[in-house]
Amino acid sequence: MVETVVKIVPAGENLLCEGDPGVFAYMVQSGKLEVWTMQQGQRVVLSRVGPGGVVGELGLVTNAPRSATVTALEGTQVIRISREHLSERLDEADPLLRHTLQVVLTRLRDLLDFVHGKSLDEKTEAYSLLDVDNQTTAAGTDHSKAMHRLQVEQELEHAVRNDELELHFQPIVRLKTRAIAGFEALIRWRSPKHGMVRPDSFIPVAEQSNLIVPIGHWIFHSACESLRRLQQVAAQLQPGQPLITMSVNLSVRQFRDDSLFRELIRAAKDHHISPDRIRLEITESRLLDNWELTLEMLRTARAHGFRLAIDDFGTGYSSLAYLHRLPVDTLKLDQGFIRDMVQNAGAQAIVSSVIELARKLGLEFIAEGVETREQLDALARINATSIQGYYFSRPRSLAEIEAYLEQKLRAPARTASSRAQSAA
Ligand code: C2E
Ligand code: CA
Ligand code: CA
Repeated sequence: MVETVVKIVPAGENLLCEGDPGVFAYMVQSGKLEVWTMQQGQRVVLSRVGPGGVVGELGLVTNAPRSATVTALEGTQVIRISREHLSERLDEADPLLRHTLQVVLTRLRDLLDFVHGKSLDEKTEAYSLLDVDNQTTAAGTDHSKAMHRLQVEQELEHAVRNDELELHFQPIVRLKTRAIAGFEALIRWRSPKHGMVRPDSFIPVAEQSNLIVPIGHWIFHSACESLRRLQQVAAQLQPGQPLITMSVNLSVRQFRDDSLFRELIRAAKDHHISPDRIRLEITESRLLDNWELTLEMLRTARAHGFRLAIDDFGTGYSSLAYLHRLPVDTLKLDQGFIRDMVQNAGAQAIVSSVIELARKLGLEFIAEGVETREQLDALARINATSIQGYYFSRPRSLAEIEAYLEQKLRAPARTASSRAQSAA
């Protein structure tokens, strides 16, 4: 963390003096500054800067002396901006953005050297905003990361046009009855070049470009179409059974898509799906990114009748205080707790407490990432209700999941006595 320094400059005093070495920039919080220089013995005012304005920004880019003087016209409060402040924030930015910014800053520095008539030997010492300690490595990495990202983006655009995306489905099973409550749709990219690509490798790229919007629309339509198909299979085999649900992952980035709900509603209508059969899953760690917008979007989703789940619950470091304010109906506990719960009493205590919390708040609970019989038994002991994980099934293609559903529904329903027998 870089220290934030606030300065108060009394009226008439100089904040910066022409000719001084320039290191920091300053943002005006309140008051007014005048930027001026002397030309042929005359005081020439270059600009006046009020709240929100910045002075001394060239100091962040060049080592050159200040090119003008800055004087307070009234008592003025400023915040100091250092190179470290910027580089700290840029560390988390998109590599393409960082790389482009670095190129622009280098050009600006060269341009200033040119304007000031400097020869190549006198060139201003280069600063990198991107990594104060290690400029070349950071720039090199950014360059290759940016190239890679652009390439994936281009291939992904092509994938959308060429129907290379597909949804796979993983069942969500009621622990007590082993009935299938629904499925989660998980996207895959069947790339002719890279083979089957998992979402972690391309969803972040889709999120950073705007590709997540068309991909998101395609997901809604494909998920509703598949749900319709699965509901038909279930209805044929077991008429009168409650209708299964489809969980669809939503990136918070999609909240900025004006047509989000229009497309969702259209997809549900086109495939005769009631919105309460669609559960939108939003990752907890991203909920606070833009709290007001997220809250508004979640409320709109509920008003349209969609169900809502917090995904990866327990990874967001966010306060529990927000939970009762969110209009969600399902908590999906992060897989990490399930993985650890058999060996680790602490993890088990957390799982058990979250189940209790969900019950008290009237929320549905889904344990995700259940792989073993031991985990399932441990979850049964603490009254978990719904289970998702490799123990029951990996995510499978629509054809495979149809066959899985048929086989499940054809098998005799589990009763308490048959469970006791199979456990014996
Ligand atoms: P997620 O929503 O938390 O999805 C669960 C992930 O855990 C899936 O990985 C699933 O295959 C995996 N999984 C399920 N059961 C088990 C298990 O028993 N053990 C283990 N080790 N893993 C299990 P997947 O399909 O690779 O998806 C990764 C992430 O990508 C998802 O995490 C989700 O955040 C994102 N994602 C997937 N599909 C979509 C989509 O359609 N849209 C968006 N925006 N994101 C998606
Ligand atoms: Ca999910
Ligand atoms: Ca999850």
